[in-house]
Amino acid sequence: MTGTITFTMIKPSAFKAGYTGNILAKIEEGGYKIKALKKVALSKEQAGHFYEMHLGKPFYEELTNFMSSGPVVAAILEKENAVEAFRKFIGATDPAKADEGTIRKLYGKNLSENAVHGSDSDESAKRESEFFFSFLEMI
Ligand code: ADP
Ligand code: MG
Repeated sequence: MTGTITFTMIKPSAFKAGYTGNILAKIEEGGYKIKALKKVALSKEQAGHFYEMHLGKPFYEELTNFMSSGPVVAAILEKENAVEAFRKFIGATDPAKADEGTIRKLYGKNLSENAVHGSDSDESAKRESEFFFSFLEMI
């Protein structure tokens, strides 16, 4: 049984470039219901906590610098089989390898600045949603 919730972020580069409206429109057109939404600027320490599973990897420093370089737009999305469906919908981590029409293909610049985040499991979706949103903001 797979869950109906996933978590996404529009990353600083895509926010700065003014893609927020287009990305949210595409997400809604894709059949995802926005359950929670906010713009927030992460400190480097907060970005480090969010991506703690990547601690020690060669790209961790670059990733946490990038994710704290400007505001992100965080959202909780609802759809059947949300996690897996949304990963397909956004495309491969590297925009150059992402399928045509996916968000990362359309709005990603490179492997680091790949426009959006998408949870990789139901467990991550819950953790990431609770990282950004209080109970009241999620109902
Ligand atoms: P995904 O976001 O597709 O789940 P990962 O969880 O593996 O990918 O990585 C988290 C984020 O770290 C990626 O979205 C990307 O922004 C960045 N990243 C991953 N691998 C690299 C890399 N080799 N070099 C630079 N940034 C990377
Ligand atoms: Mg990931």
